[in-house]
This record gives sequence, structure tokens and C-alpha cells, in this order.
Amino acid sequence: MPDETNPFENFQTQVKTAAERLELDDGVIEYLTTPERVLETNLTVELDDGSLETFEAYRSQFNDARGPYKGGIRYHPWVTREEVKALSGWMVYKCAAINIPYGGGKGGISFDPGEYSETELERITRAYAEAIRPIIGVDRDIPGPDVNTGQREMNWLKDTYETLENTGAPGIVTGKGLESGGSEGRVEATGRSVMLTAREACEYLDRDIEDTSVAVQGYGNAGSIAARLLDDLGARIVAVSDSSGAIYNSDGLDPRDVLDFKSETGQVAGYSGADEELSGEELLTMDVDLLIPAALENAIDRRLAEDVSAEVIVEAANGPLTTGADEVFADSETVIVPDILANAGGVTVSYFEWVQNRQQFYWSEEKVNSELEVLVVDAFAEMVDAYESHDAATHREAMYLVAIERVMKAVEGGGFWP
Ligand code: GLU
Repeated sequence: MPDETNPFENFQTQVKTAAERLELDDGVIEYLTTPERVLETNLTVELDDGSLETFEAYRSQFNDARGPYKGGIRYHPWVTREEVKALSGWMVYKCAAINIPYGGGKGGISFDPGEYSETELERITRAYAEAIRPIIGVDRDIPGPDVNTGQREMNWLKDTYETLENTGAPGIVTGKGLESGGSEGRVEATGRSVMLTAREACEYLDRDIEDTSVAVQGYGNAGSIAARLLDDLGARIVAVSDSSGAIYNSDGLDPRDVLDFKSETGQVAGYSGADEELSGEELLTMDVDLLIPAALENAIDRRLAEDVSAEVIVEAANGPLTTGADEVFADSETVIVPDILANAGGVTVSYFEWVQNRQQFYWSEEKVNSELEVLVVDAFAEMVDAYESHDAATHREAMYLVAIERVMKAVEGGGFWP
């Protein structure tokens, strides 16, 4: 019996399900579901009071058949070897689904960054950069932001790498600040692809976006920006949550105002424009048209899935549904827009950033957003085509069929060596 809470097992099941429909051999499936290497390291860092602390850290390089390993760095107490392996695997199929020339990687440090000062975070980040330096490179493995990391951490990573290598290499990491070689539109990119795929899903289902109620679980970068962009399209954001709880207003919340409140107080609970406060679990099962899990893995398991009433789920987080939940939704009318498509905007604009760094020619925000839209709309259409032509059980499986075929073409083109 697979462990529903192990994200790596959930990832492997997702890939296997699609690979079996493609009738790939067991040995090939093993290759497609196994990371090439995982660096596990311990960072010993001096804290502000002079004491030492050691942090567990990882970088998983899953597969580079289609291009350099690419993926974020996560700072969270739940970071484990299994989680990083799963997240790096999802990056492989995400980059293939959206069709950018990257493989997949992911890294993380197992700690709660909220408990450390800025100077401590800088030392931890620089120690991490030093530890992964031998295995990363502009054409080899390119880190980016993920949960609890952003421009500040990416700037430190770049500076550490460039200093130690005695060179300028802005393309070594993406998600940097604009003055450090970042791209316009990168901060909004994940939320933007969530909005775009939600819009495409509404069109696919003949649903009017202006007549669509939305609940968002998680009000960080992806969730808050997706809420704002969907509100701009006329959807009604009726509920949002974070670790403090959920807030609800049947007439719709103002996502900008909620974000201002959260920036001031650190939480959404207590927001005065809400009619009601709910638990996080109540938000996931409430009566809405569109549900956006935008927090962490395993938000919806088999038990909770039975009570979900949304018509569409757009996965802003990586791996928010367990395999058990997927089985429940495969037998229901609920359409899932999978993470490897819905949140691919982040890595796609990371790719645009890397291209701009290499060309030393910078794009306008309009150009970034319109290039992103083309890739997202095309990938959505390819998913729908694969769903119909392969008679796939779910849209997740359909997106994996497209992605796996792309990875396999690259593998077959180069062959296995030795
Ligand atoms: N953390 C992002 C993701 O899960 C992407 C990181 C990057 O831009 O490399 O897709």
C-alpha cells in the first residue's frame, strides 16, 4: 500500500500511470521516476549570538535529458530528502509540459526561516551556495526561488557564486531582483499562469469567468497574485486562507486589500471585510466553482476529496493532491488542472530571465507576459488534445502523456551512454 503522505511516492504514481498508458517498458519507467543524483549536505553556520547550528540541506538533480537541471530552493521545516526528490521530478515534467528546454532539479534547507535574523539567513544562504557550487552552472543546474525564498536569497546565491568563481554569471540563478539581472514579470509569473489556466479551463467547460466563485488556499506569492489577477478578470474571490485560518465573504473579498492586511499583520484571519471566519479544511470543501490550492503538498487527501464540491481545481502548489485524492476525482466530474501546467509560469519566466541574462538584452513586462501566455495557452490545448486522443483518465494524466513523450524523444535522440 503506497504511503499517501509521501510526495515522492505520489510523484512516482503520477508518472507511472501515464507511462503505462504509453506502454513504456518497466526499465524506462524506472528511469523516468528516479533522480540521477541527490546531494545531501549539512551546513554549519554561526548565529548572531556566536553559537553554531547545523542545517540539513539538499539539491536533487532529477533528469537533464531536455536541458540543464532547473528548479527552486525551498526553506521550510518540512524539507526532506523525499520531498526534494519529488519536487525535482515534478520540475522535469513541468518544463517538458510547458515546453522549455530544461530538465528538473530542486533544493532545500530544512528549517523555519521565520526564526532567524536577516544576517543569519544571509550566512545560511551563502553556506548553501558554497555547498552546491560544484554541481551547479549556467548550463548545468540553475536554481531559482521556491517556498520562503525570493529575490533577496537569489541575489545572495548569485553573489556568492560569482565571488567564488571570480566571474560574472547572472544566469547561474533566476528570480533575482531587477537590478541584479532579474526579469520583469517574474514575481507575478506563477500567479499569472494560475490565472491563465483557470481562464482556459473556464472556456473549456463553457463557464463564464465572471460568474465563477473562487476559494484560494494559501495567500503567499502564488495564491495572492492568482487571486488578484482572477479578480481583474471578473471572478469573485469568496474565500482565502493561510496558516492563521480562512476568511469568507459571499459578495467577494478585495484581494489587494486582503494582501495589504496580511502584509501589516502577517495573517488573513481578523480581516475586517470578511463575513465569516472558517477553518482551512472548511475552505477546501466549501461550495465554490473554482478551488486553488496554493500552499504545500498533500493539502487534499482521499478523505477530504470526497467532500470537495468545486467544479475545477487549479493546482498552484506543487503536489497539493495525494494519489488517493486523484483517484476520487478521476471518478467525479471535477476537472483538475495539474500543477505541472498551472504553476509552470514561474519556471517559464525564470527561463525568460536566463535567456535575457545570456543575451544581455532585457524585455518589457508586456513581452514577458505575452510570451508566457502563448506557452501556457498552447500547453493547455495540448493537454486537452491528449486527454481526448488517448482517452486519458484525468487531465493530469493527459499532461504527463505530453511531457513524457517529450522527455522520451530527447532521450531517444541522444541514446543511453555507455
Ligand atoms: N519554484 C518554482 C516551481 O516550483 C520554479 C523555480 C524556478 O524558477 O526555477 O516551479
